[in-house]
Amino acid sequence: MIQFYIPLNFLGFIYREIKQAIVDIEAMFAVLQVAPEVTDRPGAPDLVVSGGTVRFEDVRFSYDEGREILKGISFEVPAGRTVAIVGPSGAGKSTLSRLLFRFYDVSGGRITIDGQDLRDISQESLRAAIGMVPQDTVLFNDTIAYNIRYGRPAASEAEVEEAARLARIDGFIRATPKGFKTEVGERGLKLSGGEKQRVAIARTLLKAPPILVLDEATSALDSHTEKEIQDALDRVSEGRTTLVIAHRLSTVVSADEILVLADGKVAERGCHAELLAKGGLYAALWNRQREAEDAAAALARAQAEE
Ligand code: ADP
Ligand code: MG
Repeated sequence: MIQFYIPLNFLGFIYREIKQAIVDIEAMFAVLQVAPEVTDRPGAPDLVVSGGTVRFEDVRFSYDEGREILKGISFEVPAGRTVAIVGPSGAGKSTLSRLLFRFYDVSGGRITIDGQDLRDISQESLRAAIGMVPQDTVLFNDTIAYNIRYGRPAASEAEVEEAARLARIDGFIRATPKGFKTEVGERGLKLSGGEKQRVAIARTLLKAPPILVLDEATSALDSHTEKEIQDALDRVSEGRTTLVIAHRLSTVVSADEILVLADGKVAERGCHAELLAKGGLYAALWNRQREAEDAAAALARAQAEE
């Protein structure tokens, strides 16, 4: 009975996560092609980053009139710290990251970086200050080196290789037919989700932005890949202001603050231990994730025995 229940439950878990990723990519494309309402003010100055403190002050937002997605969200990510956002699918987590990039303007409240309202600074300077490691990286149909160097076009070959090493992807690259000159993408070498994510991490390491947004991949990765990506993510977020949409237990446990988003509001907030002790929504999410991880481990063991 239990043997049947666990894998089925786990597959359902993966399916929901994949579906969500597809929704996110589509939403991202829609945003990149449209978003005409977001424009620079005439003569808008560039963002000046001192420490990189991010503040959301009573932020409200709706994509469509009549349906408010964020209903007054306030939090601060102090310079160099990490805040994790967790919560059920559809709660508004990815919307927070889109607003920080100013793909949309808030409909109430404000978002600031080191005290500067996002609406008062140039979009170019804003996006130069933020690095994003998305859940699903789209690579260019070009070489691996090109895909990494995109983070900082002026980077030298040695810098590209160092970024790949820190992102734990250099071993993989060297094993490909032409190394860094191997073509990837549609007509080239197909990379797995974990490999693509590490290319995105290398790209971000090269960009070296003061502020980072991570939309973490999920436990659909095998545990070895997960460990490598976790190491790479730890490196990229070291000393940077980091907002992470967290799926990994390790990130959540070590975050300076965790926000549990539900129905467009902050339902709970605190550090891991405080939230567990509370026995509320966070504790329930945590226990469910643990179950899924245990099931994944059981599945891997069963496959290894075959
Ligand atoms: P999460 O990342 O927490 O799963 P999202 O921030 O992606 O949630 O979405 C929050 C809500 O906003 C969902 O109900 C979603 O359907 C809706 N939504 C997301 N993108 C759009 C969009 N481009 N237009 C209209 N509604 C959207
Ligand atoms: Mg999302």
